[in-house]
Amino acid sequence: MPTNALTVDYLIIGAGAMGMAFADVLVSESDSTMAVVDRHDTPGGHWTVSYPFVRLHGPSKFYGVNSRPMPSDEGTGKLASRSEILDYYDRLMRETLVASGRVTYLPKHNVDVAEPGRPATVRSLVTGEATEIVVRKRVVDASYMNITVPAMRRAGFGVEDAATLITINQLAELDRAPERFTVIGAGKTGIDACLWLLERGIDPDRLTWIVPRDAWLINRGLEWQSGGFQPLLNLLACTSVDAVIRVLEKNRVVVRRDPDVEPSAFRCATVDTGELAQLRRIKNVVRLGRVRAVGATSVTLDGGTIPTTPGTVHIDCTADGLTQKPPKPVFEAGAITLQPLLPCLLPPSAAVAARVECLDGDDEWRNELCAPVVNPGSARDLLSFYAIRLERMARWARSPELFTWLAGSRFITGIAALERLDEPEAQTAVFFFASRMADLLKAEGG
Ligand SMILES: Cc1cc2nc3c(=O)[nH]c(=O)nc-3n(C[C@H](O)[C@H](O)[C@H](O)COP(=O)(O)OP(=O)(O)OC[C@H]3O[C@@H](n4cnc5c(N)ncnc54)[C@H](O)[C@@H]3O)c2cc1C
Repeated sequence: MPTNALTVDYLIIGAGAMGMAFADVLVSESDSTMAVVDRHDTPGGHWTVSYPFVRLHGPSKFYGVNSRPMPSDEGTGKLASRSEILDYYDRLMRETLVASGRVTYLPKHNVDVAEPGRPATVRSLVTGEATEIVVRKRVVDASYMNITVPAMRRAGFGVEDAATLITINQLAELDRAPERFTVIGAGKTGIDACLWLLERGIDPDRLTWIVPRDAWLINRGLEWQSGGFQPLLNLLACTSVDAVIRVLEKNRVVVRRDPDVEPSAFRCATVDTGELAQLRRIKNVVRLGRVRAVGATSVTLDGGTIPTTPGTVHIDCTADGLTQKPPKPVFEAGAITLQPLLPCLLPPSAAVAARVECLDGDDEWRNELCAPVVNPGSARDLLSFYAIRLERMARWARSPELFTWLAGSRFITGIAALERLDEPEAQTAVFFFASRMADLLKAEGG
């Protein structure tokens, strides 16, 4: 099999949202060359295989890349659709990245070997041809977060032949109405499946929702979560983790699906008030832990068994779209590993890492600015979710060059108000707030 050769400054593994956000900043802030390699045939990562009716669940204005507005950018209530997102990344790749003359895009290629200090090998998944890539500066791993959507893997539980289990992608392909539906999973994908069924007119009595853990949901309609830091500083009066959560709930920053059930999880899923009202129409909610097996007449869960029927369609919505990867240094000799610097906000995190890469400084300084965080999982993580967003802005404000760039950026300014964060008193207030939240968490076990 022939071997091609290529020399670039950066090899970027993955043309998903993180790889694209990183490449976009390098194109506008440096004169570096790069190869962007992805197994998929089109840019956009998991969006290329997601269900047709998926939308962003955070506002479009916090998503995408820095150089290009997203469709539905204005207002927090507008969420770009899958086709808008795919079109956005396709145009970005063609019109900005490749058009710069400095980006070589290799779709349908797998990165077989990419170790700092020696040529990387990537291979076409169509012809089998290898390309050897000499990387002058760094290999950028934009695949570390390992996002999984249901279409990418088999369900993690047994399914009897006589039972019907489908992925959420297959929901839109139904060609006859089943007797009932059971949605398995309570994350963003499970919520999407429930809302889609209700919007299509299903009677909630024909719907069962298996909810392994109730989660706090971000109230998307509220400006507070994205606005200034002043209201969050009011949390300083709280003397326990629970008290902070109570204040967040009282101010409707976060909401719960069921008024009678205290959520134990938090995974950054969002709803608006209309969606919440829809979800509350579902009364058949099963809280018996995770599904172990789906049979023709029963579903076995960690905590018991529920009846089902052969005519029920079970929808698998259990994949992990927001992984909690162990943090590692973002900058290492010859390598960059893209990770969340702001909880749940992966594209802005990748853009910041790229901007920091372009600034003068050593890797110790870069890693200090770009310390990775773990995406939230439990209700307690609400405290660090809000504290880290503010703390990062104050940390970044200490580099005047970075701060100027952030203040003019398309999708980072709105995450937390930056107006006063270049003032030392404002920074001190934010650092105090972050350490106070950390102390509350530590005092209660971690
Ligand atoms: C349904 C869903 C909705 C979401 N909505 C939002 C939202 O509204 N707002 C938000 O901020 N976040 C959202 N997220 C979080 C989401 O994880 C990120 O926004 C982002 O899309 C993740 O992008 P990524 O580049 O890290 O990963 P991916 O999209 O998984 O991209 C990684 C790419 O790397 C490629 N790759 C991996 N290994 C190799 C290899 N060896 N060789 C070649 N290519 C390789 C893969 O093919 C893939 O294309 C959502 C997640 C899901 C699942």
